[in-house]
Amino acid sequence: MPSKRVLIVGGVAGGASCAARLRRLDEAAEIFVYERGPDVSFANCGLPYFLGGVIQSRQQLLMSTPERFRDWFRIEVRARSEVRRIDRAARTIEVVNVQTGATATEPYDALVLAPGAAPIRPNVPGVDLEGIFTLRNLEDMDRIDAWISQTGAARAVVVGGGYIGLEMVENLARRGLEVTLLEKLDQVMAVMDPEMVAPVHDELKRQGVDVRLGSGVAAFEPAGPQRVTVHTENDKRFTADVVILAVGVRPDVGLAREAGLDLGPLGGIRVDAQMRTSDPAIWAVGDAVEVRDWITGQPALVALAGPANRQGRVAADSICGRASQFRGAQGTAVLGIFDLVLASTGASEKALRRAGMAYQKVYTHPFSHATYYPGAEPMQLKLLFAPGDGLLLGAQAVGREGVARRIDVLALAIQKRATVFDLEEAELCYAPQFGSAKDPVNMAGFVAANVLRGDVATAHWDQWLAAQGSGKPGPLVVDVRTRGEAGAGAVPGSVNIPLGELRTRLDELPRDREIWVHCGVGQRSYYAARILRQHGFQVANLSGGFKSYKTWAKKEG
Ligand SMILES: Cc1cc2nc3c(=O)[nH]c(=O)nc-3n(C[C@H](O)[C@H](O)[C@H](O)COP(=O)(O)OP(=O)(O)OC[C@H]3O[C@@H](n4cnc5c(N)ncnc54)[C@H](O)[C@@H]3O)c2cc1C
Repeated sequence: MPSKRVLIVGGVAGGASCAARLRRLDEAAEIFVYERGPDVSFANCGLPYFLGGVIQSRQQLLMSTPERFRDWFRIEVRARSEVRRIDRAARTIEVVNVQTGATATEPYDALVLAPGAAPIRPNVPGVDLEGIFTLRNLEDMDRIDAWISQTGAARAVVVGGGYIGLEMVENLARRGLEVTLLEKLDQVMAVMDPEMVAPVHDELKRQGVDVRLGSGVAAFEPAGPQRVTVHTENDKRFTADVVILAVGVRPDVGLAREAGLDLGPLGGIRVDAQMRTSDPAIWAVGDAVEVRDWITGQPALVALAGPANRQGRVAADSICGRASQFRGAQGTAVLGIFDLVLASTGASEKALRRAGMAYQKVYTHPFSHATYYPGAEPMQLKLLFAPGDGLLLGAQAVGREGVARRIDVLALAIQKRATVFDLEEAELCYAPQFGSAKDPVNMAGFVAANVLRGDVATAHWDQWLAAQGSGKPGPLVVDVRTRGEAGAGAVPGSVNIPLGELRTRLDELPRDREIWVHCGVGQRSYYAARILRQHGFQVANLSGGFKSYKTWAKKEG
C-alpha cells in the first residue's frame, strides 16, 4: 500500500532533489514528477559553458534521466507534461501532455511546486524578433547554438550584466564572437557593491568586450536578414547577429496564483520555514518562492541552485513528518569572468543601507597564498559587520586564485552568526602554496576587530571623495608609502611621509586637523595610525590603502 501520493511540478533543481529525498525517506510513497520540457534534472548552470565549447558534450548536462529516476528511485517522471491547474478542494491537478494535447486529472496527498523562474523579457518594441534569445533550459541553449552556427554569427549583444549575462559574454567571446554588453545601471553584478566590481569592468575591457554601462535597451529593429539593431535609452545603436537577453528572472507563479495560494510582497510564493505554502497540502521550493534574508530578515527572492536544492530536501522532510527547516538565504554566489573570480555572501553595503541597518566595513588586499611561494595572486576583500558586537553581515571578494574559498569560509561563519572576533581565531589549513599562516580570513578579522576595539579609527575613500565634492577643507591625507611608490601615483593633495621617517617628522603635521593616513593596502598605515594616535594626533586609517583608492576613483570615473 502506498503511504501517500506526492506530485511534484518541475523536474530540475528543487523538484528533482525533493523527489529523490522523498524516496530515501519513504520507500512506500507514490512519487510523480511533471516537467513541461523534454528534460529533467539538467544542469542549468552549465548551459553557457556548452555554448562556449568548454563543456563539449550535451549529454554531460543531463544529470539524470526519467529512466534512472524509475530504476534507482521508483519515481515516475512525466516529461513534456505541463500542470495547468490545481483544484485545491479536490486535491487534484490537471496535466496536459504538450506533445499530444491529452489531458489527465491526478489526485495528490501532497503537492510540491518547483516551477522555477522565467527570464524577464523587457517590454520594448521588437523584443520578439528573430535572433533575440533568453537562456533558461537546454532547448533555449540548443536554439542559440543552432542560430550561431547556422547564421555564422560574428557579433553579439548581451543585454544585462548579472551573472547569466556575464557568463554569456565570456562564452560568446570564447566562441569567437565580438561582444557588446549593455547594462542599464552604472555597474555590472548589481547584487554587489560598485567598488568591488570595478575590476570586472576592467577585465571585460581587457578581454576586448565592449562594455556599455548606463545603457538600458529602448527597442530592437530588424537590420537586414538575421540581424538586429539594438537601440539604447541613451540613443546609441548596436547591430548584432545574435542578442541574448539576461535582464533577470521572475518567479514562475502563474499556477500558484491561479490556485489562490498566498504570494509574498516581492511576488514569489509565500512559504513557511518548512517550505509549506498557505495550503497545508502544498509545498513550494526554489526560484519560485520568497524566502527570508538571513541578514536583514526581510523577504527575498534568491534564484540560486544551492538554496533550491536544500529547499527541495526540506520540503521532502516536512512531507515525511521531519522537522527540518530552511533557515533563510544569504545569497552566497560566485562568478568566473575570464581570468577573474567574483564572490559574495550575506548583505552588500547597499542592501544594509536599504534595510536601515547599522554597519561598519573594512577592505583588505591579501594574497591568495604566501607571497614567497610562486604564483600568489592579490585579491580585494570587503567585510561588513555590526558596529557593536562585530556580528558578520556580509563579505565580497574579487581576484583570481583563492577567492571562492575565502567567501565559502565567510559564508559559513555568517550562517553560524559568527563575529569578526571569531575570524581572528579561525583555524584554517595552511601550506605556502595554498594560503598564509595568517589567512586572508584571519586578516580581515584582525583589521575589523582593531576597529571595534578602538585600536584604530577607520576612514573610507568614499567619505574622502564625498568630502572633496563638498568644497570644505577635509582631513589631511598623509601617504606613508615610500617616495618611489608615491612618485608612481598619489592621491591629490596628499602629503608623503614614509613610515620610517614619521617619528622624526611629527612636527610637520597639524594637531588641529584630522589626519587620514594611507599606504598601499592599509597595513603600514595602521602602524602609522598607532604611532600618531599615541602622540596625540586625531588620526584615522584609510581602509584598503591606495589600492582601494584606485578602485573608488575608477568607480567615480
Ligand atoms: C544559464 C543559467 C546559469 C545558472 N548558473 C547558476 C550558477 O552558476 N549557480 C547557481 O547557484 N545558480 C545558477 N543558476 C540558477 C539555478 O539554475 C536556479 O536557481 C535553479 O535551477 C532553480 O531551481 P528550481 O527547481 O527552482 O527551478 P528550475 O531548475 O528552473 O526548474 C523548474 C522547472 O519547472 C518546469 N515547470 C515550470 N512550470 C511547470 C508546469 N506548470 N508544469 C510542469 N513543469 C513546469 C520548468 O520547465 C523547469 O524545467 C543558473 C540558471 C541559469 C538559467
